[in-house]
Amino acid sequence: MRAAVVPKIGGKWEVKEIPTPEPSSNQVLIKIHASGLCYTDVHITEGRLPGQFPRTIGHEPVGEIISLGEGVTTRKVGDRVGVPWVQASCGRCEWCLRGKTMFCKQQIGTGVNTQGSHAECMLAYADSTMLLPDGLAYEQAAPVFCAGYTVWSSLRWADPKPHERIAIAGIGGLGHMAVQYSKAAGFETIAITHSKDKEELAHKLGADVVVSDGHGLKEAGGADVVLATSNSYKAAEDTLKGLRPDGRLMLIGISDEPFTISAPHELIDNRHQIIGSSQNGREYLYEALDYVAKGKVKVMAEIFPLDHVADAYERVSKGKVRFRAVIAITQ
Ligand SMILES: [Zn+2]
Ligand SMILES: [Zn+2]
Repeated sequence: MRAAVVPKIGGKWEVKEIPTPEPSSNQVLIKIHASGLCYTDVHITEGRLPGQFPRTIGHEPVGEIISLGEGVTTRKVGDRVGVPWVQASCGRCEWCLRGKTMFCKQQIGTGVNTQGSHAECMLAYADSTMLLPDGLAYEQAAPVFCAGYTVWSSLRWADPKPHERIAIAGIGGLGHMAVQYSKAAGFETIAITHSKDKEELAHKLGADVVVSDGHGLKEAGGADVVLATSNSYKAAEDTLKGLRPDGRLMLIGISDEPFTISAPHELIDNRHQIIGSSQNGREYLYEALDYVAKGKVKVMAEIFPLDHVADAYERVSKGKVRFRAVIAITQ
C-alpha cells in the first residue's frame, strides 16, 4: 500500500510503498478514505512527541473496514468508521478503571504509538473505532476525530447553562467549528478575532457578535465561557477581561509559551476558572459527529490527494490552510 512517510525528524514527507499490515487479535484493517492533517502532525514531525522515524503519522482517520482480526465481534467488513486519538490503554491503572482512559500514561495514541492514517490502510483496535452516521461524507467526518471532538468536548466540559454566552477566541481550524457547535447547541455566540478578513466569515458561521479582543468582549456584554482555540496564550489571557463573574476560560490550543495572569485580583474577585481541556470522552465524539451529519456544523477544509500530502503538510505547518486540511485517499 502507499503511505506518507516522514523519513526523520523535520524531514520532508514522501509517499512510499510500504507493506499492508495484517490485523492481529481484536484489530480491524481500515481502507482509509480521508485523513485529516492536524497541527499536531507538525509537532510530531518536528520530534516534539516521542516515537521512532521513519514513520507514518495521522490521527484523523475515516474509512471502511476491509478485514477483521481474531475475536472481533462488534464490527464487520464494510462498516464505515473513524478512529480517535486514544486507541487503547493499559486497562489496569486507576484512570482506566475509572473509565477515564484519556489520563492513562500507557495509552496507545493513533498515529503516535501506531502507524497513522496518511496511508491507504491503517490498523485499529476494533473497540476504539466509532461507526460513522449514515450519509456523513468522509471528508467532513475526518476532522471531527480530532478538531471537532476537541472543541465540542471542551464546550461540554465548560458545562454551559441556558442563557449563558459563549465566546470563541480564534477563528481557525478549531475555532470555525467551535462557533458552529455553539450555535448548533443554541447559545448566543461571540467570535473574537483580530483578523478583519474573518469578521464576515464569523458572522456567516453563525456568530451573533464579532469583537477583536478581551476589551471588545467586555464592551459587548462579556461571556460566561470562552473557548481559547488559538495557540496564543497571550490572546487567551486577554479574553479574561471580558469573562463574566463565575466564567470559565477553556484552554484548548497547545503552545510552548507560558500562560501568565496579569490581573490575579480580577480572577479572584470574579471567581474565574481557567480549565485545560482536550478530548473528554466518547459521548462527546458521538455528539460532535451527529451535528456534522445533520449539517448543523460544516467543516471548511482544503482537500489534497495523497500524492500532494507534502504540499498539504507545508501549508499546515506554515499556518496557510483555511481551515483544516484533509487528505482524500482514492484507491
Ligand atoms: Zn489533532
Ligand atoms: Zn491505564
